Amino acid sequence: SEFKEFSLLASIIDRVSLKGYKQPTPIQKECIPALINGHDLLGIAQTGTGKTAAFSLPIINNFGRNKIDIKAKSTRSLILTPTRELASQIMQNIDDYADGLGLKTKVVYGGVGRQDQVDSIALGLDILVATPGRLLDLIKTGDIDFQALEVFVLDEADTMLDMGFFKDVQRIISKLPKHRQTLLFSATMPAEIEILAQAILTDPIKVQI
Ligand code: AMP
Repeated sequence: SEFKEFSLLASIIDRVSLKGYKQPTPIQKECIPALINGHDLLGIAQTGTGKTAAFSLPIINNFGRNKIDIKAKSTRSLILTPTRELASQIMQNIDDYADGLGLKTKVVYGGVGRQDQVDSIALGLDILVATPGRLLDLIKTGDIDFQALEVFVLDEADTMLDMGFFKDVQRIISKLPKHRQTLLFSATMPAEIEILAQAILTDPIKVQI
């Protein structure tokens, strides 16, 4: 398939074909090479376009090539998404794509016990998928630090705004290291998101689907 034309690890290409993906979607074609190379991204795209694979395959690929230092016990990437349904779906997809690579992943959201989340974070994570409320809670109690964060994905930024999570999102971003790769996805670009994008993205590639 055309996925072979990306410089993705062979195991990822195998997993993608096992999922039945024949061709990359337009957003995947534009995003995957740029993201593998470490660019920031502004993606104006809705759910259903294949954006989850567009942002997660490069993260899995880059971390699969360069495994976490298990002594560091840090969180290398954060994917922030508005709802627990989206968070669970993203985690399921990532665990499918990353199968066999030995990456450490976890999803955290509210309404369920936090100890198991705290324990996983404490061991160090390649990929953390989170909703804003529970993540802010874990930050406040000192159960997560982002000193070694390399990649931050803000998913469905306009939904965050509509659901009243924008302040929480801004508080979370204020705890992240400035030097990182940042990806922002939003279906629409209201002024608040435009301003946030300007503030957190450095020379991003722009993809509108
Ligand atoms: P998303 O926009 O990330 O929520 O993806 C929407 C749906 O498309 C999900 O069910 C994915 O598994 C599926 N999908 C993602 N990429 C591809 C692809 N290249 N070919 C076929 N299906 C895909």
